[in-house]
Amino acid sequence: MPSIQLHPTEQISNAILSWFDLHGRKNLPWQQTKSAYHVWLSEVMLQQTQVVTVIPYFERFIARFPTVQALASADIDEVLHLWTGLGYYARARNLHKCAQMVCNQHQGLFPKTVVELEALPGIGRSTAGAILSISENIYAPILDGNVKRFLARLHCVPGWPSAPRVQKQLWQVAEHYSPHQRCADYTQAVMDLGALVCTRRNPLCSDCPLEPFCAAKATASQHQFPEPKPKKERPVRLEKLLLIKHDGQILLEKRPSTGIWGGLWSLPELDSFKSKHLLNEIPTNLHSKINHQFTHFILEAEVHLVSLQQLPKLYLPKKPSEDGAGSVQDAQQYFWYQVEKPAEIGLPGPIYKLLHSSL
Ligand code: SF4
Repeated sequence: MPSIQLHPTEQISNAILSWFDLHGRKNLPWQQTKSAYHVWLSEVMLQQTQVVTVIPYFERFIARFPTVQALASADIDEVLHLWTGLGYYARARNLHKCAQMVCNQHQGLFPKTVVELEALPGIGRSTAGAILSISENIYAPILDGNVKRFLARLHCVPGWPSAPRVQKQLWQVAEHYSPHQRCADYTQAVMDLGALVCTRRNPLCSDCPLEPFCAAKATASQHQFPEPKPKKERPVRLEKLLLIKHDGQILLEKRPSTGIWGGLWSLPELDSFKSKHLLNEIPTNLHSKINHQFTHFILEAEVHLVSLQQLPKLYLPKKPSEDGAGSVQDAQQYFWYQVEKPAEIGLPGPIYKLLHSSL
């Protein structure tokens, strides 16, 4: 891999910080305190997700769990419920585990080194750097997707930025340009620069403080960097799900805590429902289809409607009580979900949409 001719640190960091003073974001909800808890929560939510989507989720989380202790002692179902719609649910499960570890192993305080932070679930080196630099104002570089993009363009770095060799090179560049003063502002500034100016599709080079130094701009090759991930065909996974309805209520089954939609409530899978209850056949009618893209595969699910008369009652959990919003039955495995009076449980986005749009 060719070596990179780096600019002096101050030339780049000063240009970025001066731009930040005039144009950076300073009123985001998680910027109102420098608490490590707020920074950590926002950083985890912002992974793969836009700021505008994250804001209402962040505000609901902080209102319900104002401290890391409150989050650690919450029921995972409530955490997943508040996460419903944000996707990548492993983040929510790790968030909960991480809060518990911070409380049990670090007396409720986030540790103050990158190495200790990286040992916590769901925290990688870049998230650890953001937590430390923003909450403690200490030197701890970050390399999130936004930073990778503008650094790759600044020096025309070839290769997919998340490939280990390219990533290693970009970390060296990020370390070089991160200043030892105004560390908190610089971290926020590079995130903003990538999100607002050096955007994925149409970078606003004429508004960019790095324009005089940028190799991609000089060679009009902004669109060639960063290089995309090499394409790999994603396998298609076929599933059959059961929509068992009764009185406007739908039977949900809790998914195993690992694997897709881990720990969330979803429609029972036809095959596992049959084998669990020793049924040969269940008469069903095709109701709808769900097509959902996961990172590693595509889910194509057929949703089959079952009327209650077609299933022996013996195999179903008890009906919900008259007054409650449904009750968890069968050792927490099944749940009658009332569409009119939805319970606060974690549902995968596509299942939530199905329950609320087509019934
Ligand atoms: S000059 Fe353009 S391509 Fe280069 S870093 Fe700035 S916005 Fe990105």
